Amino acid sequence: MEIEEPEPPPPRQPKEPPKIRRLHDSVVNRIAAGEVIQRPVSAVKELVENSLDARSTAINVAVKDGGLKLIQVSDDGHGIRYEDLPILCERHTTSKLSTFEDLQSIQSMGFRGEALASMTYVAHVTVTTITEGQLHGYRVSYRDGVMEHEPKACAAVKGTQIMVENLFYNMVARRKTLQNSADDYSKIVDLLSRFAIHHIGLSFSCRKHGAARADVHRVATSSRLDAIKSVYGVSVAHNLLKVEARDDDPSSSIFEMNGFISNSSYSAKKTTMVLFINDRIVECTALKRAMEVVYAATLPKASKPFIYMAITLPPEHVDVNVHPTKREVSLLSQEVIIGKIQSVVESKLRNSNEARTFQEQTVEPSASCPIIASPMVTSKDRHYNPSSSRPKSQKVPVQKMVRTDSLDPAGRLHAYLQAKPLTNLENSNSLTAVRSSIRQRRNPKETADLSSIQELVDEIDSKCHSGLLDIVRHCTYVGMADDVYALLQHNTNLYLANVVNLSKELMYQQVLRRFAHFNGIKLSDPAPLPELITLALKEEDLDPECSENDDLKKKIAELNTNLLKQKAELLDEYFCVHVDEDSNLCWLPVILDQYTPDMDRLPEFVLCLGNDVDWEDEKNCLQGISAALGNFYAMHTPLLPNPSGDGLQFYKRSKHLSASDDGGNDNKTEDEIDHELLSEAQMAWSQREWSIQHVLFPSLRLFLKPPASMAANGTFVQVASLEKLYKIFERC
Ligand code: ADP
Ligand code: MG
Repeated sequence: MEIEEPEPPPPRQPKEPPKIRRLHDSVVNRIAAGEVIQRPVSAVKELVENSLDARSTAINVAVKDGGLKLIQVSDDGHGIRYEDLPILCERHTTSKLSTFEDLQSIQSMGFRGEALASMTYVAHVTVTTITEGQLHGYRVSYRDGVMEHEPKACAAVKGTQIMVENLFYNMVARRKTLQNSADDYSKIVDLLSRFAIHHIGLSFSCRKHGAARADVHRVATSSRLDAIKSVYGVSVAHNLLKVEARDDDPSSSIFEMNGFISNSSYSAKKTTMVLFINDRIVECTALKRAMEVVYAATLPKASKPFIYMAITLPPEHVDVNVHPTKREVSLLSQEVIIGKIQSVVESKLRNSNEARTFQEQTVEPSASCPIIASPMVTSKDRHYNPSSSRPKSQKVPVQKMVRTDSLDPAGRLHAYLQAKPLTNLENSNSLTAVRSSIRQRRNPKETADLSSIQELVDEIDSKCHSGLLDIVRHCTYVGMADDVYALLQHNTNLYLANVVNLSKELMYQQVLRRFAHFNGIKLSDPAPLPELITLALKEEDLDPECSENDDLKKKIAELNTNLLKQKAELLDEYFCVHVDEDSNLCWLPVILDQYTPDMDRLPEFVLCLGNDVDWEDEKNCLQGISAALGNFYAMHTPLLPNPSGDGLQFYKRSKHLSASDDGGNDNKTEDEIDHELLSEAQMAWSQREWSIQHVLFPSLRLFLKPPASMAANGTFVQVASLEKLYKIFERC
């Protein structure tokens, strides 16, 4: 058969691969600069933080054209030494950090020495500064990281003034998009307002260049409420409640929080959340969501809150070096901390409203009954709203008293159990361990707007069962009743809840919520996909010793490996499941902080990706991968049987006693315990129990939207109603 000559390629297409060139430094720096300085407000934030680091007491900002024409920040801080001016705007020059170890305890706002340098690559920067005891100051302009001329002596007032002109003059596209959006000045005003209510001992102002009146003007004060009043107005300040929370138990979390939150009379369309962690202005979407949830569930009229919170943690518990603009930080035990703050805010809101229109949810056995194991869940049940029942009663009838309180761990079954070895967990608590195993991936892509993901998240919301949601949110974890069921108390009812099902669903939902924004866990040894798949196929086999199908297994492993390699980019970008060139699995996502899945289930997961995911349809595909991850990360029972019950048998092996030992009787055997295996099993089970109490339940409370199907499939089983028991005992 003759093969037709292929058509010659079009003439312009080069035959050889294109040559790789090294980018010019100025281009590299400009790209990096665009990352740090994303818009005018990010430049203002960096400059103000520098002024704060310079121990200023007054910071004044002037802005022209939303910051594109001019940003000028003047402070009265310690100034910059003449000798430092030549390298001031070079990349990675900083006075705040010298060794890598310093990073762990960094207390200043800056440390990467990138901000000023970045600005000089995308704008014209002029610095005027004077240090204490000098007769005159110096002025010098910078471009692309270097001085444009020798510093010129000039008259100057105490401190430093930095002028940033024509921002993004050399980035046409960025400038165009910014010119079209007129709201940068308001973003800058908003930012300054936030700084002004946190650093109350300093005075701040922000004005449009040339305007007589400042849009933010706050003089130093000693009262936070006064500061909030002068920046956000009386209507906000009059409707605030003070909140405080703290924890200093190293096994859960260490933090202190002080803040103000709006009460039920405050009303706004948008949430204002001013958050400082260790004096650093940051955003924390999870905390913000958690607060909105509390307000929506607690206050009768759906109003968005105003929240100011300052959280302090040991510096080594905060990883500041995770985001190019340092806007996001990553915290040790984030979920536990959020859970604690959520409870404090919730009880504050409830208490403050006793005298008002506020209604508290009370025990309503009839409302919680249909939840349990009844396939007839009507849509009415699903919309049952626990907060719309009866007014709060001051005195709790004795039969409604509950023994444990969800904030007080005393009284948990756990406390009665013998302490088990926890050495591994204690070690893993240190940030160094966390940091070496978890790497925050910089610059996640903005992909959460994929409509199929949005649809999947919406489905979670629409399927949520409000009765179960109430149980999950407000239950007390009593302890594990057996290997799979946890005992929970909710008001006067006791429930058994299947932790495998709950954790599987939670992980699935979190994968969708964290989609494309995962931190990563690096596997200490990259795992070769073909081997993982073969292992999984063998596990599935009824007769693993039979080598008949070995070729077939090899073929399946090869096909699946190729498939996953083709999908590597998608898996990595959206799910942080990273497969390298040599078909090794190297990274997995962090779905819940402080929790890594049981690696014994890795082969099953990889096989499931290859076999069970529909790679053709976008939505099915993303759902399939999320479900596979959910199943993998679920808190299954460890593969080794639980040694604390009948499982102990498993660790006994029969030892034949030799004839000489027992004087001639051949058949005698004696049980001996395999201590190594036993201690491995004890470790696995106690780790799991720790994770269930300290990671799973706090996270369930915060994030799980239990689907209605859980009401009927045995995930929750009501075991007793204390009220009914009380009645029975009363008759005795
Ligand atoms: P970083 O803040 O990460 O150290 P920057 O590029 O923001 O890096 O600043 C570089 C250095 O310039 C700082 O470490 C500091 O020593 C000095 N500096 C910048 N702004 C000021 C200021 N307003 N007052 C005094 N020193 C400043
Ligand atoms: Mg800085």
